Parts: sequence; C-alpha cells; structure tokens
Amino acid sequence: MSKTYRIAVITGDGIGPEITEAAVSALKSLDLNFEFTKVAAGLDAWQKLGNQLPPETIETIKSSDACLKGPTQTPPGPGSFKSATVTLRQALDLYANVRPIKNHPGVPSVHKGVDMVIVRENTEGLYAGIEYVVGDSALAIRVITKKGSERIAKFAFDLARRERRKKVTAVHKANVLKETDGLFRNIVADVAKNYPEILFDDMHVDAAAMRISMKPQDLDVIVTTNLFGDVLSDEAAGVVGGLGMAPSANIGDRYAFFEAIHGSAPKHAGKWDANPAAIMLSAAMMLRYVGEIDAGNRFESAIDAVLEEGKTVTRDLGGNAGTLDFARAVSEKLKC
Ligand code: NAD
Repeated sequence: MSKTYRIAVITGDGIGPEITEAAVSALKSLDLNFEFTKVAAGLDAWQKLGNQLPPETIETIKSSDACLKGPTQTPPGPGSFKSATVTLRQALDLYANVRPIKNHPGVPSVHKGVDMVIVRENTEGLYAGIEYVVGDSALAIRVITKKGSERIAKFAFDLARRERRKKVTAVHKANVLKETDGLFRNIVADVAKNYPEILFDDMHVDAAAMRISMKPQDLDVIVTTNLFGDVLSDEAAGVVGGLGMAPSANIGDRYAFFEAIHGSAPKHAGKWDANPAAIMLSAAMMLRYVGEIDAGNRFESAIDAVLEEGKTVTRDLGGNAGTLDFARAVSEKLKC
C-alpha cells in the first residue's frame, strides 16, 4: 500500500482559508494518499485561543511530513502579538526561505526569460525581533551570526550545484553595515571557495533591487539576509506577474512549511477572487520535498496549463475566475 502523507494545514487569515481550500482540493486530485490536519495560527488563533501560535500547532507540524500554510495576519505596531510566521520559522529553526521567481506561461509580466531563486536567511537579521524603547527612541538589534550565514550560504551553493545554472550572488549592504553585512558577505565568500564550479559574485542590495527591475535575467541564485530577502522577493514577484504567482519553501534540517510569499490580503477576504496559484506552486514544492518529485512536477505542469490557457484565471491576471474555479481547472488537467 502506498504511503499516506500527513500534511498539517494552517488555513490562516484573510484570503488564507480560501486559497488553502483551493490548494487542498487540487492536491486531492493526485493519485496520492494524504491525511490533512487543520491547525490554528495567526490573528484568528489569537482571537479565539489567545495565542497566535498554540503549542499544539507546533507539535502537529513536527509530527507531520510537511505543513502547507496560508498567510497569517499580524496587526502592526507596538502592543500587538509577534508574527506567527516569524515565530514558527524560529521555533522550528527553518533557516532557509527558498523563493523561486520565474515566468509562467500566459502570465502577463514586466520581463520574460526570468528564472531565479532568492535564498533568504530566515531566522535572524532584523527579524530576530529584538527591539527596545529607550526614552523617545526605538532600537532594533540586527543579528548576523557566523553559523547562520554559513549554513544559508551552503544551502544556496548546494542548490546552485544541484538544480541551477551555477551562479550565486550574495546581496548585502556591507559598505554601510560594516560589521553585520561585512560578516555575512565574508562568510558567503569563504563558503564560495568550496564550490569552485559555481560562479560567485556579490551586489549591494540597492543595486540588486535595480537589477531585478531592469535585467532580472542576469540573476540565478541570490543569497541574502532576512529583511533584504523579504523585500527583494516581493519586488521580484512583481516582475513576473505579481504576488499571486510567487511560492516559497521554509526549510530546516528536520521540518518544513510551504506558503505563498504574499500576505493575507484582507481587502480580498470573503470575495473568493484571490489567485491561489502561489500557494498551489508552494504545494508543488512540498510534494518534491516529501520525495514525490513526479507528482510535484505534474502538479506544477497542471497549474501552468491552466495559466497558459488563460480561460480560468483570476482577476489579478486579467481574468474573472474565482479562487475555486482555478483549483477545479487544475484538478481537471490532473485527470487528463
Ligand atoms: P499582502 O501580500 O497581503 O497584499 C498586498 C496586495 O497584493 C493585496 O492588496 C492584493 O492586491 C495583492 N495580493 C496578495 N496576494 C494576492 C493573491 N493571492 N491574489 C491576488 N492579489 C493578491 O500584503 P500586506 O497588505 O502588506 O499584508 C497584509 C497582511 O498579511 C498583514 O497582516 C501582514 O502581516 C500579513 N502577511 C503575512 C505573510 C505570511 O503569512 N507569510 C506574509 C506577508 C504579509
């Protein structure tokens, strides 16, 4: 009998329950066995349970093969709880945030021929969450460690060697942030020496931002710190069709979760018109992570086939299909 994959599902807030329902329904069309377990996280969990990331959620994810996560909402400013997403990444030590950015057939985009991956350090940097108020000032500590920089650099170079066009660009601001980004840049350059077959270069983050908007085809694997990776990946998503098209994997040595890079888009909540492609592409990454390479590729091809046809796409891509219409169209392609 074939294996049953235990998948923890954080439905999340805003459009989260809608896009996760779309992804789960399409996954069920694959010839694989899944056991989906819904777990609570985010604003809804905070309001109902008084905890944005209940311990049971972490335990269920730890005992699952992987987690599919909808976006969770975090109210801004002081006095509100810490982001469930950031807390989960730190709690499970999911140090690599892998964000593939590429064109998909039929999707209107600023540039063509884009195929890059942003590998973002996911547990430290300015998102370590160490902030203080001192008198009239607010201070944040940016944590960059040798261990954190080394392991994300190795992750990026291994990825470049295994699957990519064999080029890694370290993105930093070491000319200004001399200690923190100086350390990050130097460690990535040291790790690069162990990968002589990989072309290595580095760029300042402002120059990288312009390169992404002007000539993204030059870039293959970017490795960068937490905040820079967050900002650059939204920018890069904008170049290939928008936030509805950008998936991600949050990976550690033992656990992983998969989510769209976008947030809970509260203004779209309840309209069932959000694009589920990003979370569905994340689900394809999840299938490959659990070892179902062929199913992951078939799932992504079915998504691409629907996008290319253009008949059942959502409003952000110029169509008028609903979130579940898109998922149903993908399920139909999987049955072909
Ligand atoms: P957002 O990504 O939610 O939305 C920005 C805009 O992008 C939306 O207004 C919408 O026009 C568009 N958009 C996003 N996803 C889309 C989709 N699937 N289909 C169509 N259009 C889409 O960013 P925000 O408004 O800055 O954040 C809203 C909330 O999401 C905040 O509370 C934030 O903390 C949270 N957030 C969560 C995550 C996560 O859970 N990983 C990531 C980012 C933001």
